[in-house]
Amino acid sequence: MAILICCPCGLPLDCENIDLLIDATCPRCKRSLDLEFEDEAGTRRRAVLTIMDGPIWKGEQFVMPIGQQLTMGTGTDGWLSLEGEGIAEKHCRLRVSTGGYSVVEDLDTDTGTWIDNARIAKGKLFPSQSFRIGDYRFRLDFRSTLGQNQPAVSVSDVGAVALTQDKTFERLRHVSSPLGILVQRRFVYARAALTTFAWTTAAYHAVYLRYAAEPQWPGYWAVIASAIIVTILLASTRLVALVHRYAKYAGIASLVLLAIVDLAKWQLHGAAIPPLVLAAAVSLAITRTPGPAGALGAAMLVVGAVIAMGVMTLNLVLPLLPI
Ligand SMILES: [Zn+2]
Repeated sequence: MAILICCPCGLPLDCENIDLLIDATCPRCKRSLDLEFEDEAGTRRRAVLTIMDGPIWKGEQFVMPIGQQLTMGTGTDGWLSLEGEGIAEKHCRLRVSTGGYSVVEDLDTDTGTWIDNARIAKGKLFPSQSFRIGDYRFRLDFRSTLGQNQPAVSVSDVGAVALTQDKTFERLRHVSSPLGILVQRRFVYARAALTTFAWTTAAYHAVYLRYAAEPQWPGYWAVIASAIIVTILLASTRLVALVHRYAKYAGIASLVLLAIVDLAKWQLHGAAIPPLVLAAAVSLAITRTPGPAGALGAAMLVVGAVIAMGVMTLNLVLPLLPI
């Protein structure tokens, strides 16, 4: 399951070991984010928001920073930036307090914010409960930090709220087929593929510019050029998992830019193909929730692009070796 941590300012935190984190600091706004709270029984828990239904990001999960105002809407400066009909720029605001008390507040929208079948201005959310905005349905869960999903014991006033097991959620949680895992972890894989590709193509360009280009570049210029390529690609790779309307496409844009430079400036017609194939695959994987077939297609394109880049690099390097 792709599980992400976003700062209230919208920046996703680039965490390799998301399960181990207790708090984190946003590199952009320097906010310190608590990711756990303690319930009445003294159990450490995380508040996790899952997108149960919606035009995009279905099945994605977000760790909710504790004690922060988390704004959702089509605007790009909130916690989650959504696309879809009937969503306002700033649509609703969520807050989970340090005791696990959770509130969702409508920000005076036309289409409203709904808990179960009630339109609310401001309402309490209980664990396992869903709320809707536009075509999206979100579910709040309190997860013990051991990873199990349990309703918090602190909620004694659940009253009439039905804590029915949500079948959709069960289905999302228990994906075990290889293709299902591929869909769920597509951001992780896309980032790994882009990172591998960045280093391979940088090596290729360094060797090409130094030894094969007409005229050949001085060694230090070739190294500087490849360092620029790898820096841009790695920097934009970090943005791929971004739940942001535009910034997540930075990785794709820099791949296309590289292909254009390869074609127009360096006449590297072959070398321009892998970044374009990779860009197509990554956009398929991250723009929408791809079905298993889409994920498999994207994965094959990614593997093809990375292998092609590797083979081209070897072809270029091997003749230069003194063997
Ligand atoms: Zn921030």
